[in-house]
Amino acid sequence: MTAFKHLLSTSPLASARESASSALGSLKPGSGSKPPRYSAAGLFVKGAKSQDWPRVWREVDLQKSYDVIIIGGGVHGLATAYYLATNHGITNVAVLDKAYLGSGGSGRNTAIVRSNYLTPEGVAFYDRSLSLYNTMSTDLNLNVMFSERGHMTLAHTDGALRTMRWRAEVNKLQDINSSVIDADEVKKLAPSLDTSPNTRYPILGALYHPPGGTIRHDAVVWGYARGADHRGVEMHQKTEVYDILCEGGSGPDGKGPGGKVTGVRTNRGDISAPIVVNCTAGWATTISDMAGVKLPITTHPLQAAVTEPVKVFLPTVVVSGSLHVYVSQTDRGELVFGASVDPYATYSMKGSLEFTEELAGHVLELMPNIGRMRLLRQWAGLCDMTPDYSPIMGFTPVDGFLCDVGWGTYGFKAGPVSGEQMAEAIATKATPKLIEPFKLSRFATGQLVGEKGAAAVGH
Ligand SMILES: Cc1cc2nc3c(=O)[nH]c(=O)nc-3n(C[C@H](O)[C@H](O)[C@H](O)COP(=O)(O)OP(=O)(O)OC[C@H]3O[C@@H](n4cnc5c(N)ncnc54)[C@H](O)[C@@H]3O)c2cc1C
Repeated sequence: MTAFKHLLSTSPLASARESASSALGSLKPGSGSKPPRYSAAGLFVKGAKSQDWPRVWREVDLQKSYDVIIIGGGVHGLATAYYLATNHGITNVAVLDKAYLGSGGSGRNTAIVRSNYLTPEGVAFYDRSLSLYNTMSTDLNLNVMFSERGHMTLAHTDGALRTMRWRAEVNKLQDINSSVIDADEVKKLAPSLDTSPNTRYPILGALYHPPGGTIRHDAVVWGYARGADHRGVEMHQKTEVYDILCEGGSGPDGKGPGGKVTGVRTNRGDISAPIVVNCTAGWATTISDMAGVKLPITTHPLQAAVTEPVKVFLPTVVVSGSLHVYVSQTDRGELVFGASVDPYATYSMKGSLEFTEELAGHVLELMPNIGRMRLLRQWAGLCDMTPDYSPIMGFTPVDGFLCDVGWGTYGFKAGPVSGEQMAEAIATKATPKLIEPFKLSRFATGQLVGEKGAAAVGH
């Protein structure tokens, strides 16, 4: 029974099913309480009574109007909907997605979370997200499998070590647990790494951040969707936004600066709303263009790969900027690899042989002993890159059109804080302090938030 309980509490599939089927009662949309907790008892009772598994979120008819329309059913859109309902009581909200919830980067990422960024603005922002992740399983009544296993960014050059020291100092000033360690300590933390001085890029040290780790990305998407649904928010999958409806703007069809949003046109008809939020990450500019708002974003593919499962031997997340690779091991034993974005702009999500070859070569320089492991699969997602590697959040020159985009390769970890802050912006009609530095106008005023040194490969 102990093993059975463990399975229930750690398997996301089991969790999702059990959640949906909880014997504690059916979902009560709009009730304000948390959705029922998944429990072994719930699973047992459902099974004994041969009851069907209820949906984790409802399928309801699309209305003609809402108070808020959120485009994009990834972690950002769903978290915004969840916090609008939970923190501000705004529940007449629809999340629209052209595919299925989590079909974008939110279901394709490598699930790394951390807060050891380079700028004080970035550190404060991502740290708030990490603290929301810390309590998420309790807040959403769903096990999101947060594994606080530490995050290590390797330094192979004196220049890299200098940046790590800089980051560590910025981090410490904001009470973030982050410090530079030497090659011997690296070896102790991850014995499988080749720390000898004879490699092409010897490991000189690392920035070590114990609070970093991984979280089950699907569970986060399902948890926010379930929590938002429980409070009355509607999720509409297979609902593609074709156009943003505006009036009074300086551009064609009333779009552009000075105008205001009146709704959206979709494959299922027009829907009116005074507030429309763009949470579409890799597709961010396609949506903003529809409102006449220009964003300094280019979309690039980012690829990742996973091996067959083996006995757990890598206890921490390891990142090497110089070798353009990072790796962590799942609880099931698979090694999950990622890299930096492909250098060309495209909306294609195809994997490439070049990526696999380069990845394998670089990984073997770090861990020569895994040469016989086999790759199980590879995949790609889209990343919306800004010039300073920081997001674009909040209000735009079109009244009622808000953006939560520019998430590049680092947006999964920012999901909770982004949702919380965007919800506050919508509810209070004012930009919260935490996201003030990330407003669109910084590209006109030159107040960039340069995070490339901490975000290019680190994720
Ligand atoms: C391989 C890979 C690894 C990554 N690893 C990490 C990591 O370890 N840590 C980390 O923090 N970040 C990581 N990221 C980045 C992270 O995944 C993204 O930044 C994040 O998921 C963005 O979430 P989102 O909710 O903003 O957008 P998404 O999850 O991409 O959702 C956008 C949604 O918008 C929908 N959409 C688009 N156009 C329309 C339309 N016209 N109408 C309706 N819906 C539309 C899409 O269908 C999609 O579901 C990684 C990304 C990739 C690709």
